[in-house]
Amino acid sequence: MWLRRDLRLSDLPALAAARGTDSSVLLCFVVDPRLEKSSGERRLAFLFDSLREVDAKLDGRLLVVRGRPEEEIPRLARAVGAGSVHISEDFSPFGRRRDEAVDEALGDTPLEATGSPYLVSPGRVTKDDGEPYKVFTPYFRRWRDHGWRKPADSSVPDSAVLDPLDVTKSGRIRIPKAPTRLSFPAGEDAALARWAEFVDDDLADYDTGRNDPAADVTSRMSAYLKYGNIHPRTLAADLTRPAPRGAKERSDGASRGDQAYLRELAFRDFYADVLHHWPHSLWHNWNRQFDDIALDTDETAYERFEAWKAGRTGFPLVDAGMRQLAEIGWMHNRVRMVTASFLVKDLHLPWWWGAEWFLEQLVDGDVASNNHGWQWAAGTGTDAAPYFRVFNPEAQAKKFDPDGEYIRRWVGDTDADDYPDPIVDHKAEREEALRRFGEI
Ligand code: FAD
Repeated sequence: MWLRRDLRLSDLPALAAARGTDSSVLLCFVVDPRLEKSSGERRLAFLFDSLREVDAKLDGRLLVVRGRPEEEIPRLARAVGAGSVHISEDFSPFGRRRDEAVDEALGDTPLEATGSPYLVSPGRVTKDDGEPYKVFTPYFRRWRDHGWRKPADSSVPDSAVLDPLDVTKSGRIRIPKAPTRLSFPAGEDAALARWAEFVDDDLADYDTGRNDPAADVTSRMSAYLKYGNIHPRTLAADLTRPAPRGAKERSDGASRGDQAYLRELAFRDFYADVLHHWPHSLWHNWNRQFDDIALDTDETAYERFEAWKAGRTGFPLVDAGMRQLAEIGWMHNRVRMVTASFLVKDLHLPWWWGAEWFLEQLVDGDVASNNHGWQWAAGTGTDAAPYFRVFNPEAQAKKFDPDGEYIRRWVGDTDADDYPDPIVDHKAEREEALRRFGEI
């Protein structure tokens, strides 16, 4: 069993498949230097802490090695005489290329994929003519009708887990030390505990509370989902089932909270689906008509970019979000939208500059959700906010942080002498954004 973005032991269909009727299983993880280089410190810390937990749950029998998976996995498979290698399917462009290379290098030993990190795997939900959806709402309806399985029983008796000490020349390394401290704990136990707390305290009001950054009542499941400390199936099992099409929805608050939450899980699947069908949308405009829009990349652009990163734009809600990101590696969704819109529409910078910075900082950094979240804000993606709709950061603050509590929490006193003046004039930059849009 080769673990990747499924760092848990319960509800793990690939592990159940590896065990089969009564096989022994070696659980392993390959630290890939390419991913070590491209992941921010917080994501690495989350990864290594998650591995430590899996290892502890297995009484020290998780085999961690470092190297290229297409060399390490066949080597380990040979060392234990594996009949097959089991994985949860990875749909990211990098993951797919890597798995193809491993499959080829394994030769006659099959690489068997069971399950994926999604409720409905990319590629499964299509229009009647087989074409992928470009708009979320119809995708969502069909996604709900498609449905998903119940959580899987993946318990494996201790006696069936192979001990890496019995593997000759296993290449085992110690799980690396976390390069930074996390603001919340990683791992399956923490994910389950946080989920139970959210269900008890905040789920019923989720549909109204989710837009209030000061109240901070969203689930904070994103990093757990990213690393597979928990599967969305386990979350969905606690939500009221969607009413079949045509039937009346329950209209009490609990159901509304549940349905709003399910919709967000669907967004996660939708963006993975978009990336699956249009891999170019990772770092290029999904809508190529925007390729000709004028962007700023001169010295002033870089200075503005630095001010944005540091939370020193002089726009309090933008600065609060950017400081929250820098301090804890997470930012509230509403503020992610505001800070992203500001970078694109007020500063006229390429969205991918911002997307890269987010990925570097976020503990939940995920290319599908992040880069398509950015393309939504930039107006260049599927289902995007129309380009001409420009968020006004002050109006957004008045609406979503009316008492200024979120801003005070992350910026402090915006009347203080050391708080910067606005680096741009929003009204003028809005006109400028529209002018550039008009040009194309
Ligand atoms: P909740 O509100 O509790 O939502 C529950 C879960 O639903 C989340 O954990 C997440 O898995 C999913 N979800 C919610 N909103 C979205 C969304 N808009 N798109 C996709 N999935 C969603 N999410 C990431 O997981 N990783 C990212 O790197 C990321 N980058 C983003 C960048 C931008 C510019 C924007 C606008 C959004 C981004 N999001 C990203 C989506 C969203 O902001 C986060 O998932 C959410 O804030 C995480 O907090 P939560 O778990 O408390 O969310």
